[in-house]
Amino acid sequence: MSDLHNLSVKALANLLHTKEVSAVEVATRFLARMGGNPHNAFLDIDSEVTLAQARASDAKLADGTAGPLEGVPVAHKDVFVTRDFATTAGSKILSGYRSPFDATVVQRLRTAGMVSLGKLNCDEFAMGSANENSAYGPVQNPWDTARVPGGSSGGSAAAVAAGLAPAATGTDTGGSIRQPASFCGITGIKPTYGRASRYGMIAYASSLDQAGPMARSAEDCALLLSAMCGADLDRDSTSLDMPTEDFAASLNNSLEGLRIGIPKEFFGKGLHADVRAAVDGALREYEKLGAKLVPISLPRTELSIPVYYIIAPAEASSNLSRFDGVKFGHRAKDYTDLVDMYKKTRAEGFGNEVKRRIMTGAYVLSHGYYDAYYLQAQKIRRMIADDFQNAFKECDVIAGPVAPSVAWKFGENAGDPVADYLADIFTLPASLAGLPGMSVPAGFGVGGMPVGLQLIGNYFKEAQLLNAAHRLQQATDFHLRKPEGI
Ligand code: GLN
Repeated sequence: MSDLHNLSVKALANLLHTKEVSAVEVATRFLARMGGNPHNAFLDIDSEVTLAQARASDAKLADGTAGPLEGVPVAHKDVFVTRDFATTAGSKILSGYRSPFDATVVQRLRTAGMVSLGKLNCDEFAMGSANENSAYGPVQNPWDTARVPGGSSGGSAAAVAAGLAPAATGTDTGGSIRQPASFCGITGIKPTYGRASRYGMIAYASSLDQAGPMARSAEDCALLLSAMCGADLDRDSTSLDMPTEDFAASLNNSLEGLRIGIPKEFFGKGLHADVRAAVDGALREYEKLGAKLVPISLPRTELSIPVYYIIAPAEASSNLSRFDGVKFGHRAKDYTDLVDMYKKTRAEGFGNEVKRRIMTGAYVLSHGYYDAYYLQAQKIRRMIADDFQNAFKECDVIAGPVAPSVAWKFGENAGDPVADYLADIFTLPASLAGLPGMSVPAGFGVGGMPVGLQLIGNYFKEAQLLNAAHRLQQATDFHLRKPEGI
């Protein structure tokens, strides 16, 4: 089978269960494609580990104990700790770090049968929107290697788009699953905050961080999401005490009468015409499928940028204090005393963007500024969540662009971090509210680059989002298009 790398998760699972291919054959194909590390998507590959997992999966397929995704490969964002691969979170400070355990999400996907292909490049500690902040070099967008893949899960998006992995994990704190999925023309979903355990996910901003799947289609995302999610209360007290759900069960539900809210703040100035045209096209498709478009307002959309860029760095400044050269990763060589060791280790180990966020975070939490910045931001965060609840009185799901533009060219925003921050405007609101959100391929814009449609649902409505995305994908073929040569 020459096109194994272009098959969906679902198709691969079927072929594996009917023994038309073996897990070792599938893994071998992907490992061959990963040779030379195209697009700099991977940070750690170990074919021995992958093949050992594939052999174990073949044994389970043979003796009837196979999980639903047995033998299907997946690659993990380097923010998830793994026992069998190094984990760096894209940072020099964790160079060569080996975790003594697997993150819950990694472990759950393995239990479902998935074979790990290795670890994927990302912005350092998931801070970024372009994957230009990785200590291990940027990831190229497979659609145009002169352009960024988005971030921070840029390696995940590029790997799926380039056929290096049928699916990947990502993490989303302020858009890091949705935006790279949009930039690379794949599908990704960030579930409701708490759906997936954060245990073993290297913390960036703990009140926002969520794990989710990235794959070609909504159907594949549903299969992974069902396997990833579930209560893990002993290890992550914010994980939701809810039964696991079969997110694939309702994919084919009719959209007749579905009310899709269109927030006017998502279509104002700043939205590029090419993105708008693609999003409008997808909305027309929804009307044809029986959905009704309802104008709504999310009045504090613009405030989500300052609010997020206060709260996330504040939490990061606390979370990243553990990287001090004592227990993890890098330690400076020449130092005079303990404080000097901390200073030198952190100065050497962290990149500029991480340092910027730690400083911003420490500043907004400091005495005298806490009330003016952090406390105000928390209050507005609540109002942003309230805006969504008001909107959901009038609609079932909300739709709009994922990002104001298609993927930009390397260096375009270089030296101007605020330009990157502003581009997060449409993904931050759902993150601040803890709502599920996804990106669905909706067409192509400037330079032939993919455009994603964002769907936002109310709490725990992932199944509804995936249903809406799947129906769009039954009616369009944007998610099936591939970069040239893939
Ligand atoms: N771009 C945002 C940031 O830099 C979001 C990143 C994320 O979701 N991890 O913080």
